[in-house]
Amino acid sequence: MRIELDEAQRSIQQTVREFAAAELRPQASAWDRAGTFPHAIVPKLAALGLFGLTVPQEWDGAGLDLLTAVLAIEAIAWGDASIGLTIASHNSLCTGHILQFGSPAQKRKYLPRLASGSALGAWCLTEPGAGSDAAAIQTRAIRRGTDWVLNGSKVFVTQGSVAGVYVVMARTNPQSGHRGISAFIVDRDAPGRRAGKKEDKLGVRASDTAEVIFEDCTITADSLIAPEGEGFHQALSVLERGRIGIGALAVGIGRAALEDSIRYASQRKAFGKSLTEHQAIQFMLADIRSAAKPRWQSCTPPKRRPARLRRPCRFMAAMDSSRSIRSNATTATSSSRRSVRARPRFNA
Ligand SMILES: Cc1cc2nc3c(=O)[nH]c(=O)nc-3n(C[C@H](O)[C@H](O)[C@H](O)COP(=O)(O)OP(=O)(O)OC[C@H]3O[C@@H](n4cnc5c(N)ncnc54)[C@H](O)[C@@H]3O)c2cc1C
Repeated sequence: MRIELDEAQRSIQQTVREFAAAELRPQASAWDRAGTFPHAIVPKLAALGLFGLTVPQEWDGAGLDLLTAVLAIEAIAWGDASIGLTIASHNSLCTGHILQFGSPAQKRKYLPRLASGSALGAWCLTEPGAGSDAAAIQTRAIRRGTDWVLNGSKVFVTQGSVAGVYVVMARTNPQSGHRGISAFIVDRDAPGRRAGKKEDKLGVRASDTAEVIFEDCTITADSLIAPEGEGFHQALSVLERGRIGIGALAVGIGRAALEDSIRYASQRKAFGKSLTEHQAIQFMLADIRSAAKPRWQSCTPPKRRPARLRRPCRFMAAMDSSRSIRSNATTATSSSRRSVRARPRFNA
């Protein structure tokens, strides 16, 4: 089975690619050198619906299926890896967590803000002593009356200093290992929450990566993403979906690298011919092309795939058969690219 993109998906992909070429690529290098989050681009990303890719339209999202969302992330990452990371993390982590596990009231309260881009989302799991071993987190959440009080610090948080909404994993029971972890929603202005050190990274420098500190941070009881003790399982599920977006991010960066490599290798001459005419260079370019090719383009039926590859393929096939979601995208994009561009959002 080969999954083909339908007309609506191609239209959205083309629209986002054009946006990335016009608005992101020309500024990417300067943003990266400056190493600060480019706030001015946020309204333009929001106008395209990029902050609520898979959020249903009832909460102001674009209501896209996951495959189409991945196409958008890949196209943005081609234009600027930092903005690609912003879009991928905002959609998959903070917004994705609330979308997947939030109560109806939490969805009503937070998803419209996140999907419209009026608040950026951050997702706080990693701590100085807990990265890969996420179950080792020490940030504590203790009940005080009807409130929860958070103490601890998170590191490497994308949108850590610029977000409006934070999903925070904290330990509600120190004796219960990973079953003692719960997830909470914390507003930017919650008393006792503040941003700490901002990371000075080697790459994706315009993506905000910062420490987030909670010192007697008091939040109301309804901030818990219920049930208590399920935060770790929720986080693993969110991360599983998030990795698809990170894969798309890598493909977009790879496509940009390939194009730049071909451009340079075509212009540069050595030993009387352009670099592209040297076979060793051709091999390298072919290797990049192969690595940066989205895998769904070569998806084979689940039964004929090795066991370790079946899951992603089933996942893609499931997306392909999700008619209700796909029909949203079709309705949203109408039949031509021009109509998408004429509208401010995918779902308008
Ligand atoms: C740009 C960026 C953005 C990020 N955004 C977020 C975010 O938004 N929210 C968030 O919560 N976190 C975020 N993170 C943190 C990220 O999730 C962690 O960096 C990651 O979980 C790894 O943790 P660590 O850096 O502490 O590495 P460690 O866990 O200390 O690992 C160090 C090395 O040891 C290896 N290692 C670890 N365990 C094992 C093992 N059992 N066997 C063999 N090797 C092992 C690892 O592969 C790695 O090479 C971000 C990180 C980066 C770089």
